[in-house]
Amino acid sequence: MQNSVPMNPQLQFLIALQETDSEIANWEKGLALVPVQIESAKSDLAARRKKLDDADARIKEVQNRSRQLEQEVKIENDHMSKTKLKLPSVKTNKEYTAILAEVETIERKITGLEDRELELMETLESREKELPGSKAEYQEEEKKFNQYKSRKEAEKSRLEKDLEAARRKRDELVRSTDPKLVQRYEKVLKLRGDHAVARLVGHICQGCFQQILPQLVIEIRSGEKVFECIHCNRFLYWVPEPVTETAAPK
Ligand SMILES: [Zn+2]
Repeated sequence: MQNSVPMNPQLQFLIALQETDSEIANWEKGLALVPVQIESAKSDLAARRKKLDDADARIKEVQNRSRQLEQEVKIENDHMSKTKLKLPSVKTNKEYTAILAEVETIERKITGLEDRELELMETLESREKELPGSKAEYQEEEKKFNQYKSRKEAEKSRLEKDLEAARRKRDELVRSTDPKLVQRYEKVLKLRGDHAVARLVGHICQGCFQQILPQLVIEIRSGEKVFECIHCNRFLYWVPEPVTETAAPK
């Protein structure tokens, strides 16, 4: 019934301007998010890279320790040969026993070093076994990151285009209407921060969720004039509510 009269053009303008501003805010928010998302994915990848480098470093560390042990074994073997060389020239039993004891000590030391070496070889083997898998995993992650980045960059240029279009639409809208109305709109927008136009549902302003007086509700529903909410100053408009979501007439 109320919809038989077309909505006041100024009110139509305000609704369109609000929609465009919401679009602009949306695109801007999306655009600001893209570099943050890329940066976050990048630091995830860097953390994986670091894990891989650490694994590499641990292998090198074992290899170095193993080489050191080999050297120590070599020194002990030399030590033993030199000690044994003394044997033919010994004069007393006591001397002989002392040399044998020394040889035994060296032998035990060598066995200990060789056992340690063996342990290191086992550690090295298991670490080396894991490495190719970790490397392949990292490369896979790196590939995924690059794909994600390209996707995000494409999204960025799409958003930039959408934003540009929305800004152009806004300029056209503003150009085509009374500057005083635009000023009023800007004033309310500044005051409220989020949006300057609100829908009336039942008797409730959807901007501040406060009740509107019945007489004003009737006038707002007629859509003939521009009214502001007496509580929050937002411009109020009314559209018929769809019966159900699926049965909503398009
Ligand atoms: Zn309100």
